[in-house]
Amino acid sequence: MRRVVLKMSGEALASAASDETIDASTVDFLAREIASAMERGGLELAVVVGGGNIWRGATGAMAGMNRANSDLMGMLGTVINALALQDAIESHGRPTRVMSAIGMDQVCEPYIRRRAVRHLEKGRVTIFAAGMGNPYFTTDTPAAQRAAEVEADIVLKGTHGGVDGVYSADPRVHPDAQRYDEISFDDVIAQNLRVMDLTAITFCKDNNLPIRVFDLMAPGNLGRALDGHAVGTLVR
Ligand code: UDP
Repeated sequence: MRRVVLKMSGEALASAASDETIDASTVDFLAREIASAMERGGLELAVVVGGGNIWRGATGAMAGMNRANSDLMGMLGTVINALALQDAIESHGRPTRVMSAIGMDQVCEPYIRRRAVRHLEKGRVTIFAAGMGNPYFTTDTPAAQRAAEVEADIVLKGTHGGVDGVYSADPRVHPDAQRYDEISFDDVIAQNLRVMDLTAITFCKDNNLPIRVFDLMAPGNLGRALDGHAVGTLVR
């Protein structure tokens, strides 16, 4: 694996224990995992971070807000998370860039594909913020779409809620659920398994882009996934 897009949810940055929306020690843990993963020579890592710890568009829409407006709030949330992550990764000595799908010159760079590729080639951890800049999506779809755009080899979908891969049913509800080591896109779709949003899954299927779903919060797991070890579930 040379070029990788890591998708992490905004909630991975939060902590139930501290009740913080962005928990400093959790962000520091993630930044350490990323910085130590980058010690592998030749690895190019882009990160797509969600915003669900701050706002989800669907929540506002359910309360009667205009959906597009509510989604904009969600996208801005991802930018806040991206800046938190940037700060923490740089504190571990790794250069980073934040690129936003929504122009905000004083905050970060605009997303420009060729520039993103250049950052990646130079070994900068490149954080894609504001999703795709379009409402009616979650950040799963931009993770897949950006991965295709920068010609990444794989999407790594890091989980944070203790579910360490794709199961035949929700293991928190059905303790006897089986974890798949590998599963096809068609089976994920047919069985309606919650891996990523369906839009993202069909995009990855159409564009032949494998996804590895793994527990991002287990120390060393990101490195293992990058080394090609069979952690979690491979969807392809
Ligand atoms: N969002 C959007 N377009 C995008 C990406 C995100 O409108 O391309 C909005 C949407 O409202 C979403 C919110 O940003 O609910 C936060 O992203 P997401 O729900 O994916 O965060 P996560 O669950 O990964 O933390």
